[in-house]
Amino acid sequence: MEQPSDRSIWSALTRGAQQKCPSCGEGKLFDKYLKVVPNCQQCGEELHHHRADDAPPYFTIFIIGHILVPLMMWVEIAYKPALWIHSILWLPLTLALCYWTLPRVKGALIGLQWAMRMHGFNPEHDEAAEYGGNTPV
Ligand SMILES: [Zn+2]
Repeated sequence: MEQPSDRSIWSALTRGAQQKCPSCGEGKLFDKYLKVVPNCQQCGEELHHHRADDAPPYFTIFIIGHILVPLMMWVEIAYKPALWIHSILWLPLTLALCYWTLPRVKGALIGLQWAMRMHGFNPEHDEAAEYGGNTPV
């Protein structure tokens, strides 16, 4: 049986960030914007085991916040624009960056879970025990 070290974490992270199957790097990871396909269409790897949950939005907010807040502060200090200029500049930019980043972060996290055989990606995992006898829908 394969051990966790048999799967490259870096390869799985980058494939996931490219929204590709972490196993083969060819099949699509998402069916819709953030809906993960149950199985890879290329290699058949089961991908429904992921438990990304709230981590993708958390990391997306963390990343985008660390990019935009310093930019906002720099623009304010350098140019002192009116509030309406801040609004039309930062609100659409924040939404667009979050929209672009969220699936990539979710893909990378699913790739990490797959590479480390977390949750259902570990064949010895007891999913019912993790959720107190109730499997998640
Ligand atoms: Zn695949």
